[in-house]
Amino acid sequence: MLLAAAAAMPDLTQLKQMSARFAPVRLKYSEAGLSEGDRKALAKLIEAAKTLNLLFMDQLWSGNRALYEKLQKDTTPLGKERLHYFWLNKGPWSDLDGHTAFIPGVPERKPMGANFYPEDMKREEFEAWAKTLPAEQRQQAEGFFTVIRRNGKQLTAVPYSQAYAADLKKAAGLLREAAALTDNASLKKFLTLRADAFLSNDYYASDVAWMDLDAPLEITIGPYETYNDEVFGYKAGFEAYITIRDNQETDRLKDFSSRLQEVENHLPIDPKYRNPKLGASAPIRVVNEVYASGDGAHGVRTAAFNLPNDERVVHEKGSKRVMLKNIQEAKFESNLKPIAARVLATAAQADLSFDYFFMHILAHELSHGIGPHQIQINGRSTTPRQEMKELYSAIEEAKADVTGLFMMQYLFDHGMAHGPAAERQLYSTFLASAFRSLRFGLTEAHGKGMALQFNYLTDKGAFVANSDGTFAVDFAKIKGAVRDLTHDLLTLEATGDYAGAKKMLDSLVIIRPAMQRAIDGLKAVPTDIDPTNE
Ligand code: ZN
Repeated sequence: MLLAAAAAMPDLTQLKQMSARFAPVRLKYSEAGLSEGDRKALAKLIEAAKTLNLLFMDQLWSGNRALYEKLQKDTTPLGKERLHYFWLNKGPWSDLDGHTAFIPGVPERKPMGANFYPEDMKREEFEAWAKTLPAEQRQQAEGFFTVIRRNGKQLTAVPYSQAYAADLKKAAGLLREAAALTDNASLKKFLTLRADAFLSNDYYASDVAWMDLDAPLEITIGPYETYNDEVFGYKAGFEAYITIRDNQETDRLKDFSSRLQEVENHLPIDPKYRNPKLGASAPIRVVNEVYASGDGAHGVRTAAFNLPNDERVVHEKGSKRVMLKNIQEAKFESNLKPIAARVLATAAQADLSFDYFFMHILAHELSHGIGPHQIQINGRSTTPRQEMKELYSAIEEAKADVTGLFMMQYLFDHGMAHGPAAERQLYSTFLASAFRSLRFGLTEAHGKGMALQFNYLTDKGAFVANSDGTFAVDFAKIKGAVRDLTHDLLTLEATGDYAGAKKMLDSLVIIRPAMQRAIDGLKAVPTDIDPTNE
């Protein structure tokens, strides 16, 4: 393995520039609605989450925890900055720079298999070994909750409960203390079962309890996402999101959800494509983050997540979407505001609105649940995803955005209370936020979907490029253009039209010169946030 050479590492100035891409923020939340018991439980839960920071460092790399301790003792300016950037990444590799090393003496890049597999193990060796195992052992070896180690030369699967016994025992103890303090029965049940799972390595019952969790404290803690296992995507990283439910947003969501069928019945498509009876959609929780840790607290911060990943639980109970409102707000303040200051015409600056930014995110999520999902092509039952294959995700993301705008406009026009500036705020905020997605390029579905919308709306005259490099909404044209685009995307999905989708993506998923100049002007705007209360 190649180790990073000291000469190639960023110096103090460079490291400060790298850190400056994360704007320091203090997360806003209120404990005012919590009971006495929940407030005491909250302190224990933050302690439990903290133990997962260290556990996650172990999962990332075998030398990580020792390096963290060493950095804490280095009081030189360079040492302090290294520690700061290490903490932002929870390791010596920079998430924003392709996981390359910024501290000498560590592997040049984050190991592909992290510390989930022996460093000298090849993919083929694992596969050959797994094939020889009886079904149940093979399931363990390929499962979420074991690490692979060597016993002599032989590979062996070690349960997380054994591999991380000391940290998990400590975390389980804190979860039990919190369970004893809270007066909410569903939280008590989840915390107790999750503490059991840390020791037994069986997460099923506690995942089910997490789906049933209905409490002022919305807690997610355990091994979840598999992104750090870049070899197989099998192994789950430990993380925690300690959050407080936002009751105002929860009520707003109920208002939205109660009118979904009505919006579906008025979608701008041929009525035969509308769904007369929408199924139950995944529950959405809006929360404010108090503390996140481990895999949930490095690099670009999670603003929303969908869990669990265990298919058995999803099959039985569905999944739950959690939206972190104060994280979205911090990103809005630190990233979107400075972007808007550069891309919006002066007259539109005052219309930038967090309220409509966030409402549109909710509308986007709800819009994934409406429109064509089960379709018929020449008498054959199929889905838009099956028909559009690799093109589907970009089309579906664009559809969720623009149908979200359509939904908001429909509700403005049909009884939802809104201020006189609501329409200006909604569309100008959407225009500015387009650049927040576009600056990351057109490699993934959200960026592609945004380029498609931006260029379509521009071609309809609804977005206008000014000669001074800023952009504006033409309010006489935007509603009709949104309606047309909603119609076009939903019709592509309803007819499973691969060729039509390809034509639309090929012609519209491009960065045009005016857009490129605007993106080039955003280099100094922070990429993400650094919550300083962690
Ligand atoms: Zn989406």
